[in-house]
Amino acid sequence: MADNGTVDLRLDQAHSARMYDYYLGGTTNFPADREAAGKALAAFPSILATARINRRFLQRSTRFLAEQGMTQFFDVGTGIPTSPNLHEVAQEVTPSARVVYTDNDPIVLAHARALLHSHAEGRTAYAHADVTDPADLLATAEISETLDFTRPIALSLNALLHFITDDRVDGGAHSIVEHFKAALPSGSTLTITHVTPDFDPEGIARLTGAYRAAGTPGQARQHADIVRLFDGWDLLDPGVVPTHRWRPTPEDQAENVTDAEAACYAGIARKP
Ligand code: SAH
Repeated sequence: MADNGTVDLRLDQAHSARMYDYYLGGTTNFPADREAAGKALAAFPSILATARINRRFLQRSTRFLAEQGMTQFFDVGTGIPTSPNLHEVAQEVTPSARVVYTDNDPIVLAHARALLHSHAEGRTAYAHADVTDPADLLATAEISETLDFTRPIALSLNALLHFITDDRVDGGAHSIVEHFKAALPSGSTLTITHVTPDFDPEGIARLTGAYRAAGTPGQARQHADIVRLFDGWDLLDPGVVPTHRWRPTPEDQAENVTDAEAACYAGIARKP
């Protein structure tokens, strides 16, 4: 945000949140985003399916966690709102659920109002913060006012960590995740989805090349690297698997998605 409190949307530059919105068929994207998304699509045509499958996982896993009794949700790297949003899924199961959304993209901030229509019994909040400074992010007032860090919290880092290249932060993406894990109490859960080169190394190399050319460096990670993000926590069944294979509903199964199209791993673990 600028010093005078206005938001600079930087519409002349492609942004990952708006490119992702384009893949999902949304309307919150601009010519620079569409041009970059077009190049990413040419490099890796399955990206449309990848984005859709990731969102389905997000909804399925939120429902699962709410049904498991989680009542506090902390979503970092939220993206532009789409329906249903995480709080709508969680509050459908548990109306009193509390949800904090966080992103560092000004356009997500500009659309955050859509994320704040909480069920009357629950509460939602939005914090504009950068995940590369987890201490600063966790100190945000919206977070401490909404979530009780003495009770289990469901943290989600969905389709976020592949934008955190290891050369960008001391200790890499793993050190950021460890910071969050240390801040959460026993019984908390960690949900991650992450792009992997494991099923189509050439396609994913082209995709990361297209993002880099658009000004957004990325790092796809292999299975063992993603599993390591959950170190010390108990992975829930079925472990770290391609997104569409994580407890699919019959409806998900009917889609006949391939691992190469999913292009992401998903996993959820619980803090002992
Ligand atoms: N979690 C959503 C959106 C993923 S798109 C989903 O899975 O559907 C990735 C999001 O991460 C974008 O909204 C982007 O703005 C955000 N992001 C990227 N780098 C970030 C950073 N350093 N801090 C906070 N958010 C970031």
